[in-house]
Amino acid sequence: MGVTNDKMKYDAIVIGSGMSGGWAAKEFCDKGFKTLLLERGRDVKHIKDYPTTNMYPWEFKHGGQVPQKIQDENPIVSKCYAFREDTMHFFVKDDEHPYVQEKPFDWIRGYQVGGKSIMWARQTQRWSDFDYEGPARDGFAVDWPIRYKDIAPWYSYVEKFVGISGNKDGLAVLPDGDFLPAWELTCVENYFKDFIGKNYKDRHVIYARCAHISQPQPIHIEQGRGQCQSRTLCQRGCPFGGYFNANSSTIPWALKTGNLTLRPFSVVHSIIYDEKKGKATGVRVIDANTKEAIEFTAPVIFVNASALNSNLILLNSTSSRFPNGLGNDNGLMGKYFAFHNYRARISGTYDGFKEFTTDGKRPTSAYMPRFRNVEKQETDFLRGYAAGFASFRGYANEGIDGLFGEELKNKLTAKPELGVWGVGSHMMGETIPKETNFVTLDKDKKDAWGIPLLKMSVEYDDNDEKMTKDFIEQMTEMYTKAGFTDIKTTDSNNAPGLDIHEMGGVRMGHDPKTSLLNKWNQLHACTNVFVTDGACMTSTSTQNPSLTYMALTARAANHAMEEMKKGNL
Ligand SMILES: Cc1cc2nc3c(=O)[nH]c(=O)nc-3n(C[C@H](O)[C@H](O)[C@H](O)COP(=O)(O)OP(=O)(O)OC[C@H]3O[C@@H](n4cnc5c(N)ncnc54)[C@H](O)[C@@H]3O)c2cc1C
Repeated sequence: MGVTNDKMKYDAIVIGSGMSGGWAAKEFCDKGFKTLLLERGRDVKHIKDYPTTNMYPWEFKHGGQVPQKIQDENPIVSKCYAFREDTMHFFVKDDEHPYVQEKPFDWIRGYQVGGKSIMWARQTQRWSDFDYEGPARDGFAVDWPIRYKDIAPWYSYVEKFVGISGNKDGLAVLPDGDFLPAWELTCVENYFKDFIGKNYKDRHVIYARCAHISQPQPIHIEQGRGQCQSRTLCQRGCPFGGYFNANSSTIPWALKTGNLTLRPFSVVHSIIYDEKKGKATGVRVIDANTKEAIEFTAPVIFVNASALNSNLILLNSTSSRFPNGLGNDNGLMGKYFAFHNYRARISGTYDGFKEFTTDGKRPTSAYMPRFRNVEKQETDFLRGYAAGFASFRGYANEGIDGLFGEELKNKLTAKPELGVWGVGSHMMGETIPKETNFVTLDKDKKDAWGIPLLKMSVEYDDNDEKMTKDFIEQMTEMYTKAGFTDIKTTDSNNAPGLDIHEMGGVRMGHDPKTSLLNKWNQLHACTNVFVTDGACMTSTSTQNPSLTYMALTARAANHAMEEMKKGNL
């Protein structure tokens, strides 16, 4: 039994202060609910705790690169493209928080206030009914208990606060949102957009929607955030608040209400279930520094520790009523775990538009929404993939990593050498959640806080192999027809994980026999516990998931407050 007293009672407890937890805290605090936001890592205050945000290339000791010793000591996180000298303080190092890989899985994490919202790539596409109806139509996983119309108003609600730039493209597969103006495409991107539009009936190239403020609105200024300066140093944390992270937006907003208690260094061990009351009453926390066990209570608990950690916390929340994890009556918790298939890439060159180049930078590029198996099944694999598309011509900062002194100075001040245009795309494939892809708790191994280690048993399947092959074939065909040359394709064959879009294990559904959460993200068997991060996802779509986590969280928090007011929770 941990330390507890009256000061430890709240109206709501939120576990995890990242992308989704920040939204839960904001919603509760805005409506006057005294909220405890528990975060296992350190605090990261906007601007003050972005140590590299204004550093010049020549100020980095290792020329921007991660020293070999650190790479050798951290083979997993070193595979992440965003783990660099300027950002590595925001990533979990491999040996700090071990996990068990029954099958190889690269787990990329950020344990601090703000979570991974500090380092994300900010791509924010809505999901459509082709996604929410996917499992029912194609016969996999279970039917989503919601449809696009249920979440559409919450996408708008979140988009307006976050600030999403994009164009209204009028595509059924990728619904339009409440957008700020988009940045421009390059001439080569516009050329490819026109070419695809003219030559393929159902394929489109659009501006990739992203969480950047291109034109600040009063709601952004009220948050203390300003216009994106296109510095493209986002993953260091942005002093302008030009992109959305929890540290610059939802958390300070919640703190300003006076209703938020933010408690860093608080490792949630488990959720407490009261058998007599038939509901959860609070959480057990281990203070990360003192290792003291403490208990906090609240009538409502939101689990937002990120998909895999939310699975871990719930599986570790055992009682005589729930011996296999809180709400896990059907034994499905941890199962049907899925992710995105980001294995394949293609690059090429375009020997035209030599009279043009780019000027300055921009925070995103172009996007090709899913076009395979949309209206009907047309291939020997289920579902499809989206693709990024970007073009570039030599610019001054290109290839500066690892340069020092005179060489670096010369490179930075030289007139860039303009060769031919380069083009490139990467695959963003949907994977099919399956019972055989699962996570469990290791029976013997524990972490430094006495919590069992998570054991991963997740892998690609035949559907992913066929889809990867199709991406390479289709993109090669489109690139070739468009006149791109020097085409190169790669299949990284990486283990799952580097997409950093972990989903499932505590899926939503209609039926308590085949799912864990209802349509409001409440555990069927313990309705005052809500799970609104990636763990709740029934299927994975091809679109980036974080906008959907934020919308689901805002929707669920407002439902929870209505239910509390009615005395139902
Ligand atoms: C390099 C990179 C690029 C990405 N690009 C995109 C993108 O373009 N678009 C997109 O949609 N997504 C992207 N993502 C993924 C995105 O960051 C995640 O989907 C999102 O952050 C998940 O939100 P979350 O709230 O579930 O988890 P997080 O933001 O990770 O927050 C979870 C928080 O819970 C805390 N926590 C964990 N366990 C406990 C515990 N036991 N007790 C207390 N606290 C705990 C963690 O420390 C963390 O702060 C990217 C991620 C990375 C790293």
